[in-house]
Amino acid sequence: MIRDRHTNDRFAGAIDVIVIGAGHAGLSMSYLLGMEGVDHIVLERGEIANSWRNERWDSLKLLTPNWQTQLPGRRYDGDDPDGFMPVSELVGFLENYAVSSGAPVATNTTVTSVRREGCRYRVTTDRGSLVARAVVLATGACNIPSVPKLAAELPDHITQLTPHDYHSADQVEDGGVLIVGASATGLQFAAELLHAGHDVTVAAGEHVRMPRCYRGRDIFYWLDRCGIHDERYDEVEDINRGRRLPSPQLVGSNDSNVLDLNSLAEQGARVSGRLMGVRDGIAQFSGSLRNVCALADLKMQRLLRTIDETADADGAPAPERFEGTRIDNEPLLTLDLDKAGIRTVIWATGFRPDYSWLDVPVFDRKGHVRHDGGIVDAPGLYLLGLPLMRRRKSSFIFGIEDDARDISEHLIDYLNKGGQNDGIHQDDTRARSDWRRTRHVPAPAGALGLRA
Ligand SMILES: Cc1cc2nc3c(=O)[nH]c(=O)nc-3n(C[C@H](O)[C@H](O)[C@H](O)COP(=O)(O)OP(=O)(O)OC[C@H]3O[C@@H](n4cnc5c(N)ncnc54)[C@H](O)[C@@H]3O)c2cc1C
Repeated sequence: MIRDRHTNDRFAGAIDVIVIGAGHAGLSMSYLLGMEGVDHIVLERGEIANSWRNERWDSLKLLTPNWQTQLPGRRYDGDDPDGFMPVSELVGFLENYAVSSGAPVATNTTVTSVRREGCRYRVTTDRGSLVARAVVLATGACNIPSVPKLAAELPDHITQLTPHDYHSADQVEDGGVLIVGASATGLQFAAELLHAGHDVTVAAGEHVRMPRCYRGRDIFYWLDRCGIHDERYDEVEDINRGRRLPSPQLVGSNDSNVLDLNSLAEQGARVSGRLMGVRDGIAQFSGSLRNVCALADLKMQRLLRTIDETADADGAPAPERFEGTRIDNEPLLTLDLDKAGIRTVIWATGFRPDYSWLDVPVFDRKGHVRHDGGIVDAPGLYLLGLPLMRRRKSSFIFGIEDDARDISEHLIDYLNKGGQNDGIHQDDTRARSDWRRTRHVPAPAGALGLRA
């Protein structure tokens, strides 16, 4: 039924599938649905690649090499496959992808609610509402920077920034900076601020350490080659822990092989344990820094040994070993923020998705959407782009293709087996024809006269 657009006309007013979000995940899903002739629309609150345009910092380059920037039906074909793409280039790549695949994207359209109505979903936006048989939530995993509650204990005169607020070192007031978090984001900020002349302290909790290059190849080559990225969610021992793993300490650069606590300390950074609290302007750090770093070192060595098995068989250059993380004999346990001249605290403490607009009872006790590899615990509702959703690579750009294929196949099967699409209201018919005309052409809210 859904392979034939003419047959779809019998259901004038109905949309088979609504995809929410026009990042790489939503666009990939749109591409695959389009290839199968599935009637769908992509709703995007900003422009295509909105997160990359508005929620990243100026100097950011992808930490995955260019050759790995690939989506269904599209491969990187530039002249620098081993380089690292700046955000502006990635935005262009995604825009081109949307245009060349004819993705039906309605931009500047914010979804404010998704509700189940009988066997369908009513998707309400700031430009009106639509009804669909299935909905794909491709709204990203990093909508909200996670900031611990103890942020409220910081004195008012200290500026607090999240990765969504931070654009460049220029905006950071003179003086010391405390960066909380030692994963890719925190370490990249630390390197940039040290370079700009700031006094930098990094509070390090659990982190994942990796060299940029190993045995003559980029580390992402080896993660691929050894099948680590393809490990499935139902094969992982502790899936909850796997899904919470921080991003590896890497930067998209061919110049520096290593971005880690040792390299930052060499540049003058002070490293402390996890920030545990702030009382009367005194920051208190965990004494577990040595253990946390020893664990990260151990896991890195274990990963490199796994790679060695394949690299030896491939005849790669000899293995390198990396020095363990150097820890002061007397680690920093407290810091008087004023005396240390700290003017800014940056929370590089991770991100979480925002489903505050999802009015379907699919949340567990912790507020996470209940799903099995992206198939949500509600018929016709799907997720895409979350960490370790179906595979270790699920939240990476290069990882979306396999997940999107699996999800689109399940979704098409669901539609073919009879997801309902009758009983559409009159205004939805009008809404649908209007949406079709909005391909890549944003209209001001209310301009279409839709039901608000
Ligand atoms: C700092 C950082 C660096 C990263 N670097 C890399 C990297 O080097 N390589 C890599 O492969 N991955 C990287 N990632 C991971 C991942 O690729 C990105 O997070 C990517 O943006 C996720 O794509 P997505 O399509 O799932 O979500 P997003 O790109 O976030 O797209 C979701 C879209 O949904 C829209 N949306 C959200 N809510 C609504 C709503 N209610 N109504 C309508 N639209 C809505 C948003 O505006 C957005 O455009 C990085 C992530 C971060 C945070």
